[in-house]
Amino acid sequence: MMEWLTQLLLVLLLMKFSNTLPDVIRIGGLFHPADDKQEIAFRYAVEKINSDRMILPRSKLSAQIEKMSPQDSFHASKKVCHLLRSGVAAIFGPQSAHTASHVQSICDTMEIPHLETRWDYRLRRESCLVNLYPHPTTLSKAYVDLVKAWGWKSFTIIYENNEGLVRLQELLKAHGPYEFPITVRQLGESSDYRPLLKQIKNSAESHIVLDCSTERIYDVLKQAQQIGMMSDYHSYLITSLDLHGVDLEEFKYGGTNITAFRLVDPDGPEVRKVVREWNLSEAKNKKGEISSIIRDNNTFVKAETALMYDAVHLFAKALHDLDTSQQIDIKPLSCDAVDTWPHGYSLINYMKIVEMRGLTGVIKFDHQGFRSDFVLDIIELSKEGLKKIGTWNSTEGVNFTRTYGEAYTQIVEIIQNKTFVVTTILSSPYVMRKEASEKLTGNAQFEGYAVDLIHEISRVLGFNYTIRLAPDGRYGSLNRETKEWDGMIRELLDQKADLAIADLTITYDREQAVDFTMPFMNLGISILYRKPIKQPPNLFSFLSPLSLDVWIYMATAYLGVSVLLFILARFTPYEWQNPHPCNPNPDHLENQFTLFNCMWFAIGSLMQQGCDFLPKAVSTRMVAGMWWFFTLIMISSYTANLAAFLTVERMDSPIESADDLAKQTKIKYGALRGGSTAAFFRDSNFSTYQRMWSFMESQRPSAFTASNVEGVERVVKGRGNYAFLMESTSIEYVIERNCELTQVGGMLDSKGYGIAMPPNSPFRTAISGAILKLQEEGKLHILKTRWWKEKRGGGACRDETTKTSSTANELGLANVGGVFVVLMGGMGVACVIAVCEFVWKSRKVAVEERSSLCAEMATELRFALRCQGSTKPIRKKGRSCNAPTGVDDGRFHPLGSYTSYGFVSKEPIN
Ligand code: ASP
Repeated sequence: MMEWLTQLLLVLLLMKFSNTLPDVIRIGGLFHPADDKQEIAFRYAVEKINSDRMILPRSKLSAQIEKMSPQDSFHASKKVCHLLRSGVAAIFGPQSAHTASHVQSICDTMEIPHLETRWDYRLRRESCLVNLYPHPTTLSKAYVDLVKAWGWKSFTIIYENNEGLVRLQELLKAHGPYEFPITVRQLGESSDYRPLLKQIKNSAESHIVLDCSTERIYDVLKQAQQIGMMSDYHSYLITSLDLHGVDLEEFKYGGTNITAFRLVDPDGPEVRKVVREWNLSEAKNKKGEISSIIRDNNTFVKAETALMYDAVHLFAKALHDLDTSQQIDIKPLSCDAVDTWPHGYSLINYMKIVEMRGLTGVIKFDHQGFRSDFVLDIIELSKEGLKKIGTWNSTEGVNFTRTYGEAYTQIVEIIQNKTFVVTTILSSPYVMRKEASEKLTGNAQFEGYAVDLIHEISRVLGFNYTIRLAPDGRYGSLNRETKEWDGMIRELLDQKADLAIADLTITYDREQAVDFTMPFMNLGISILYRKPIKQPPNLFSFLSPLSLDVWIYMATAYLGVSVLLFILARFTPYEWQNPHPCNPNPDHLENQFTLFNCMWFAIGSLMQQGCDFLPKAVSTRMVAGMWWFFTLIMISSYTANLAAFLTVERMDSPIESADDLAKQTKIKYGALRGGSTAAFFRDSNFSTYQRMWSFMESQRPSAFTASNVEGVERVVKGRGNYAFLMESTSIEYVIERNCELTQVGGMLDSKGYGIAMPPNSPFRTAISGAILKLQEEGKLHILKTRWWKEKRGGGACRDETTKTSSTANELGLANVGGVFVVLMGGMGVACVIAVCEFVWKSRKVAVEERSSLCAEMATELRFALRCQGSTKPIRKKGRSCNAPTGVDDGRFHPLGSYTSYGFVSKEPIN
């Protein structure tokens, strides 16, 4: 039993280690004359496997090479049949699509493994083909991921042939119908690409996806450079995996962003070693200058060439694995017979399950037989040549390995050698012409906040700049019909300028067209208007503390209370009193609250003076008490408010806000033509602003101005008939200098000024960083104070404000004159009444005494004018009639009241 088991083990071991493969395994290679690198890689891989002895220990590979024209499919078929007749285990190549499809169909029929290393969108699963080139869909996904990672909104695809469109189909599909349009243009047969590139340039597109053969890349880029499409703002994504084989020396310093993927890292140690070795073997074969190859140290290898090397290794490894499981014999096959190779499919399946590392990274296939889990390097052109900035793989997508700091440093390095063209417009205090006796040139002509700002930024980042005025002197607005921009924005889009610095507002429309840095100043739209004209002090300003309504209500309350007191006093028994307290049995009672007395009582209390008679009944006291309370509150309120009304100068402005402006048509108003302020009203959905926009548009002559200066002039000359809608910072500047003008109301919106630059500018982050730095250091604040409050007449209106506030407390006659008028008026009225009373009594007495009115008046006047004594004797007379007591007896009484009783003489006693 033991013996039997030992024999079985021996047989198994023999089976395991016995190489059933033939000593020489032929493999066919089909190459085109131009594919010499492919052929070298193929030969070198075979040599390497043979010398290594690790992969196929007992067998040797023998390379059977056939050459053919790339277009000649007939000869290709013949050559394959010839190879099959010689008994090959696999066929490699060819590279041309024309011939490859024929080769593949023959291999499929004969069940001979066919290994390809070219881009082929017709990859089929159920065939004898093993293609090591990444699957077109996967590759296309890599482009999509990269474009998305960059955040490109629009781009132009330049493609060479229909295969290019297939290659980029995922990119075309990924772009949604509602996004910005993408443009697709074909390169054409001609070698002059300039007309096409010019069209792209005119469309202001700066993102370009270039899909063409590696050989044409240089020419396209060169011609793009000639027509000015290789600026800092252009980005090229090149779909070729062999960009590292293109001479990019001339484009290294242009600042253009040129990016591509690569499958083979020429700096990888394995690649370096292999490429060096096959260069040497090639030189040996050609008997060339070995030393020059060593000196060159050129490790450039095309992706397809590296893939050929990997393909031979993959084949050898799969063959070795297959050899361990089945006995393999390789036999010649005839294309004329229906013969097949029985191990073909097994070998293909082994190739698809093998996992190995090659020059092109991990070689692995998915369940569909397409290459999977491969990694592509993302490479970018820099001053040092092509640099790896990240990687892509199908599971994680794009992964940038360059840190933010590295990217920033790189940009700053580029900036340091630059001279930026800065476009601007004249607008105080941002950019103004310097006043000088001699003629100034260059940047020295200008001064202002924006000029200082760019100077500070240039000091932080270390670049040079040239200031140029925008030819049309406009900020930049989009013509909705022509879709063209004007002003500074146009200059940026035409790449005539690198930066736009002024009071240029960051708006949505502009942000779509150009790039903005973070804002360096915040502001909002407001109204510039003439200061309200000072109202001359009102003579009757003492009436102002209470409104007319309140005065009317007070007068009504006064009358009401007087009448009520009168009625209640008559009604209540306790107000009827004995006129002669010494007489316990009076024959009549007296009520002191006559209507006139009631009014006198009420007015006495209102004036806080009191009166010589007071209510006695509870009801009348209640009325009096409430009236006193009322007067207490009213008088205190009046006194408190009076101080404010007499001291504060009254300024009456017809408009206080945008609403007031919108509600009227007498005061015209407008804004800067083509600016963000006008655009704010044009695009607003708010009804007030829409009404204002319609009003502004309907005005003839136009309510819009060509500049802020013109707007300010119109406000000054308009003498209150024109208001200008302007940005708060500019208003602040104007009202610091022109004391006639003021800002009316608050801000209608909130926004900021930013530095604009052409779209896709790589300098945005660096310049934003510099602005932030200046802000944190307080430089921006210093600049603002300098240009707003100090230079060019700043602070002119500050003295005036102080003056007005210090004199506000003194009251002139004009403020309180009304009180004197009232006093004088009262005196006058009193005199007139006194005369009336005098005449009235004199006439009565004259009638009674039957004397003349003049004599009576003369007698009384004489007595009055004597101005002696305070007593007046009564002229006694007999009771002429039964005048009721308490009734006016028609005589002068020293007290002037009606309380006399008895008889008095008709003649006054002298
Ligand atoms: N700063 C504004 C602009 O950028 C000008 C304005 O409309 O007031 O358009």
